[in-house]
Amino acid sequence: MTSWQCPYCNHFTIVSHKNRTMQTIRLNEKSKQGPAGLEVTSTACANPECIELTVDLAFGQVEVIPRTHSAPLLRLLPMPRVLRRRLLPEAKVISLPDEVPDEIKITYSEAVLIADLSGRASAAMARRCLQGIVRDFFQVPQEKRGNLGAELSLVKEQISPDLWSDIVALRSVGDIGAHMDKNVNEIIDVSPDEAKILIQLIETLFTEWYIARAKRRQRSESLATMLSSKRDAQKLAKASARVGDEPES
Ligand SMILES: [Zn+2]
Repeated sequence: MTSWQCPYCNHFTIVSHKNRTMQTIRLNEKSKQGPAGLEVTSTACANPECIELTVDLAFGQVEVIPRTHSAPLLRLLPMPRVLRRRLLPEAKVISLPDEVPDEIKITYSEAVLIADLSGRASAAMARRCLQGIVRDFFQVPQEKRGNLGAELSLVKEQISPDLWSDIVALRSVGDIGAHMDKNVNEIIDVSPDEAKILIQLIETLFTEWYIARAKRRQRSESLATMLSSKRDAQKLAKASARVGDEPES
């Protein structure tokens, strides 16, 4: 039994043979790949409120282990290369308000879609997304634009402390993803799951900054409309009261 984090509900749940099935399917052997196989891992979330199905695929060379009384056992070899893909849940892109510039929307969806293929590329996209958001949301003037670190320190006072530390972490991992850290010569990997944490932070910024601002504006407009309709009603009431006050002749 192992602990596992469900990608749907984010709960850590226990995985056992009851809620996880692993099967290796043998693929056609006539190709250059030789004896290749597809390992399918399906996991049902143990959280009773969720019970969603996660499906992971791994493709690679297989070892065929003969058995006397049953069909041969297939085992995926760790070398030379195993290709992994998550089939379910599908990468989810949240819908963003109109005021988020298209460039940021595109970079965000690229970060989401590439996460399973390359965590590093996704982290680099998430970092670019962060820079776009900071420039746009806080209206960083053109002449002050350049280095993300400097742009961030310009707006630090306007960011809540808990978000600030997350943003600093995203920037650092993104730098590693984009290979911008000049002191490191070897490429440090970013796993798809780590990239997804960065994407979640970007989504938090969309929600807490753009979506919250859009809601505040909407509420102010509704309040202004409400107030003007109340004033109109008040004027009408006063006018009719005046008519009522006129002495009868
Ligand atoms: Zn779940």
